[in-house]
Amino acid sequence: MPRIIVTGAFGQIGSELTSALREQYGPDNVVATGRHVPEAASSAGPAEVLDVTDAASVQETFRRLEPDIVYHLAARLSAVAEQDPESAWQVNVEGLRNVLRAARDVAAERMFWPSSIAAFGPDTPRIAVPQDTIMRPTTIYGIAKVAGELLCNYYLARYGLDVRGVRYPGVISSGSPPGGGTTDYAVEIFYAALQRGKYTAFVRADCVLPMIYMPDCINAATKLMQAPRERLLHHNSFNVTAMSFSAGELAREIKRHLPNFVCKFAPDERQAIADSWPQSLDDSAARKEWGWQPSYDLPAMTEDMLATLRARL
Ligand code: NAD
Repeated sequence: MPRIIVTGAFGQIGSELTSALREQYGPDNVVATGRHVPEAASSAGPAEVLDVTDAASVQETFRRLEPDIVYHLAARLSAVAEQDPESAWQVNVEGLRNVLRAARDVAAERMFWPSSIAAFGPDTPRIAVPQDTIMRPTTIYGIAKVAGELLCNYYLARYGLDVRGVRYPGVISSGSPPGGGTTDYAVEIFYAALQRGKYTAFVRADCVLPMIYMPDCINAATKLMQAPRERLLHHNSFNVTAMSFSAGELAREIKRHLPNFVCKFAPDERQAIADSWPQSLDDSAARKEWGWQPSYDLPAMTEDMLATLRARL
């Protein structure tokens, strides 16, 4: 069995990816790391504190654990990054470099690092964004993602480190809450609809963004990591998407299940970030090179989110 390290393992994606990896590879083979370890986490499998901006700790942890596979998810998300650009750069770029260096030094077999639709910018075509296109983001989060994609390419070309990744759209999930991104409204709305019957979205009703539901998000990471290396032309920056909808359409879809739900729209500073991102992506390279195929569209995701949250809340 391969030994696996996950960084940022207690965040929105990390918590569900770690569970999926533990099911596949056995709990003891997957070490979950994060800046803090939640109390409940250690019962599910090995868990450690690891701040990815601390280069010496990253080196020491990787030398001790000798991972074959690394999933590097530690990051500051878009809205949080904009509040403190200096520390966002430290975590998202210097942290990535620390992890790439440590993975190279222990000769890890493979590494996964997700980029984002934030790597695109206002000059990028907004509809069906091609795999290879203009990338001039205007947010610090997006700039760090472009730098990260280039850095991963460099480690692949220069050191042969097999680092792979996708450009995730907004991720919707019912498990761990989102960590301060621009698409958080698409998760918050479900909790609010069930708990209070009303929600005020921080974007306009006609704000359209590409999205993906968590099972597809996890599937994208694990499927790409299992793909034969020789088939991959776009190693670390595959466009992936599952659906695109406006905030108004999402509210209407929820209303089909909860007729009394009331949604208002009061755009704040996050609207400007959303306006700089594409509305839909062309993910044909991922489909062709490693068989990407999402399972959830807007109606299927909405039904599953409401059923899962209703049972839990
Ligand atoms: P999240 O904010 O929920 O989780 C990130 C985790 O990293 C958090 O638990 C945080 O505590 C941890 N972290 C922050 N600084 C750290 C540090 N210095 N050392 C160690 N850990 C640190 O984010 P997520 O949604 O799980 O995102 C994971 C990855 O996916 C990120 O690279 C993100 O940019 C990317 N992504 C996410 C989305 C989305 O909608 N969630 C979309 C596109 C890309």
